[in-house]
Amino acid sequence: MVICIRNQAIVFALHGALLYATFAKGLPPSIRVDAKLPSLEEFVRDLFFSVLSREALFYSSHRILHLRPLYRRFHKQHHKFTAPVAFSSQYAHPVEHISANVLPILLPPLLLKSHILTMWVFVAFQLIETSTVHSGYDFFGGAAKKHDRHHERFDVYFGGIGLLDYVLGTDEREDRRRGKKD
Ligand SMILES: [Zn+2]
Ligand SMILES: [Zn+2]
Repeated sequence: MVICIRNQAIVFALHGALLYATFAKGLPPSIRVDAKLPSLEEFVRDLFFSVLSREALFYSSHRILHLRPLYRRFHKQHHKFTAPVAFSSQYAHPVEHISANVLPILLPPLLLKSHILTMWVFVAFQLIETSTVHSGYDFFGGAAKKHDRHHERFDVYFGGIGLLDYVLGTDEREDRRRGKKD
């Protein structure tokens, strides 16, 4: 619990730094906050690209964290849970928390200069996704089961929505095929 609170504090500090840079240093705002709502087309486009970019950033950073020297130092902590619960999504080393949890969710809407409303919907969706895949309850068509398998096996299901695990073959289909043959 202390680890989860500390990780939340890191996120608060990052937000504070971003706000400070925006207001005190006169930099252009990193998030678009205006009364005019985004068009439906822009909303859907930004959400679509944010979900895809988050999958690419999360999959790659998570897979890098499984490389031997990095795993011990940074990712082992999160893998203490072989049967995760919702809070364990935030149970991670600060390096992992920033590189695999925060940046993959924060960067896409910032780079796309999304409206704050689009960003809220995207962030809320991702937080619900990450809490539920660690909760043991399956709300997203088998996603929790897949992430549970990651915590059991360590070498499959590195992604969030399953797209890159499918494309790159880290989704146990080889094992299933072999299992059928045996
Ligand atoms: Zn996990
Ligand atoms: Zn992992």
